[in-house]
Amino acid sequence: MSNSQLTPGIVPARLPAASYEANFADHTPPLDRHEAQVAADRCYFCHDAPCMTACPTSIDIPLFIRQIATGTPDAAAKTILSQNIMGGMCARVCPTETLCEEVCVREVAEGKPVEIGRLQRFATDTLMARGVHPFTRAAATGKRVAVVGAGPAGLACAHRLAMKGHEVTVLERRPKAGGLNEYGIATYKSTHDFAAREVDWLLKIGGITLKTGVTLGKDIALADLLADYDAVFLGIGLAGVNALRAAGEDLPGVENAVDFIAGLRQAADRSGVAVGRDVVVIGGGMTAVDAAVQSKLLGAENVTIVYRRGKEKMSASGYEQEHATQTGVRIIYGAAPVKVTGGARAEAVEFAYTQDSPEGLKLLGEGFTLKADQVFKAIGQTLAGVPEGLTVAAGKLPKRAGDKLWCGGDCALGGEDLTVTAVAEGRDAAEEIHAALTGAAG
Ligand SMILES: Cc1cc2nc3c(=O)[nH]c(=O)nc-3n(C[C@H](O)[C@H](O)[C@H](O)COP(=O)(O)OP(=O)(O)OC[C@H]3O[C@@H](n4cnc5c(N)ncnc54)[C@H](O)[C@@H]3O)c2cc1C
Ligand code: SF4
Repeated sequence: MSNSQLTPGIVPARLPAASYEANFADHTPPLDRHEAQVAADRCYFCHDAPCMTACPTSIDIPLFIRQIATGTPDAAAKTILSQNIMGGMCARVCPTETLCEEVCVREVAEGKPVEIGRLQRFATDTLMARGVHPFTRAAATGKRVAVVGAGPAGLACAHRLAMKGHEVTVLERRPKAGGLNEYGIATYKSTHDFAAREVDWLLKIGGITLKTGVTLGKDIALADLLADYDAVFLGIGLAGVNALRAAGEDLPGVENAVDFIAGLRQAADRSGVAVGRDVVVIGGGMTAVDAAVQSKLLGAENVTIVYRRGKEKMSASGYEQEHATQTGVRIIYGAAPVKVTGGARAEAVEFAYTQDSPEGLKLLGEGFTLKADQVFKAIGQTLAGVPEGLTVAAGKLPKRAGDKLWCGGDCALGGEDLTVTAVAEGRDAAEEIHAALTGAAG
């Protein structure tokens, strides 16, 4: 243990400088050509392939794997990208263990699926490394569409619309495009600035004007967009964060996990990112796991995730939970925070055990206290900055919000909050917009 690990409080440089590069290296290294060939040869090229049905973007998985097997990775990439323009990012971040690979017949029969995600990455990386953009635009339609939010949903929508010949303007409030691909996804899943490189590559289609630093509701009103453009797509994600609703949550040292993760993703030098010695993360999703694992990788000594329900209810997959525990993170199930205690700043969190019953979650009379100089809230994101006049149901926007208005991705009803789902919804909205603007069948 280094001396810096013994330092109390939230401090940078807990680890020797050389450790950071190794700790934040690619979590799942890419396959080389030979490894990809061997992995592709395991596929049975099933008729009615279950893997394809499980993919939210319906990529023709047996076809692209066959194309890799026959030595044509560029064709494989085109098969992938024609359904999912962010096939490169999805190959890195999709929870394949609960999607395509979970239902792969080789997983079902032998407990070892075809490595679909890694094969997808091999194909898309091969094509992108050559700087090739495999799609061209249709003849100009003269129609103009505004897309708000440059996350996976907005960018997928913009790309498909541009391909169909429309002129697209993307408005993004942050300084960089990419949404959570750029500001949220764990550093070790998307290395070497992949999110930014993918955006540059996607924009090569042409016909898309990207305006960053523009916030809908502040710099421009929805009514103006609806008046100026033929259609509008909102892919604004979930910009708010749920409160803990526990006493003491305003103490210094209590932070939103998404802000910590964004700071780490944008840090030019990871050794400059401050982390506590005793870190407590409250939540049960990917955000909780990513904040906890990355705290550990930054040199925190004790990192504990506390989730209010049982293991099986945690929205982070079994694989993600195992990754966390393998990194040295402790997970406590069935407890909820009641109080963050401390003087000038957070020092500990008091928890009560819970009982999950058909009537709901009950706090029990007994509990425990965890020492904590840094506490991360990771109990879910919420819709924020909803333009006036739009109806919110179950915390989300409808997919069709008016004659000229579509919504998709995390901000919209339906589907899981995953990168791949956002891409599918952006693409599908673009098809609907195209049909509405041209009278063409989707
Ligand atoms: C920490 C974290 C880790 C995750 N890890 C994974 C993972 O490993 N795998 C996975 O599949 N999914 C993961 N997810 C979920 C995934 O990132 C989201 O489902 C996906 O990014 C949703 O895409 P989106 O385009 O709907 O929204 P976002 O990616 O949130 O993009 C929305 C964009 O809209 C912009 N915006 C918002 N309001 C306005 C406004 N008023 N005006 C202009 N622009 C605006 C935002 O700045 C943002 O760029 C993770 C999420 C988080 C928070
Ligand atoms: S289910 Fe598995 S074996 Fe069958 S086509 Fe899909 S990846 Fe190949």
